[in-house]
Amino acid sequence: MRSHPPLVEFGKSGDPAAFATIGNGFRIIDFPFEIFMEIASRMSPNDVLNLARSSKTLRKFFMSKSSKHVWVSARKAMGIPDLDHLSEPHYADLLFNKRCHIENCGDPNAVEVSFALGIRLCRNYTQKVDLLS
Ligand SMILES: [Zn+2]
Repeated sequence: MRSHPPLVEFGKSGDPAAFATIGNGFRIIDFPFEIFMEIASRMSPNDVLNLARSSKTLRKFFMSKSSKHVWVSARKAMGIPDLDHLSEPHYADLLFNKRCHIENCGDPNAVEVSFALGIRLCRNYTQKVDLLS
């Protein structure tokens, strides 16, 4: 088995969310690294995205290139095709986060997606900007 950075480093960051308990007081950092990675690889890309957003430590971990295989496994398990020009986290965000990408809009029900441009827009902006046709 390959050697990985110890998961316990999450705790050294001072990031309280890395100590989040999962029932019965079991903490994320209590999982052996290989088990944690196996679990993460079997989650949906949306779950990986939410986990990555749960703490600074997990964000740093999941946004690193060494975690790319977790995103790819999660995506492929759902039958979602490759999209080479976007990063895996960006692709997952585009697919699962329904918030409009226009700064200061924040419409939570943006339905127009351009995979070519890597953006999601609400109806207000798709009517103003003819980017998606
Ligand atoms: Zn918008």
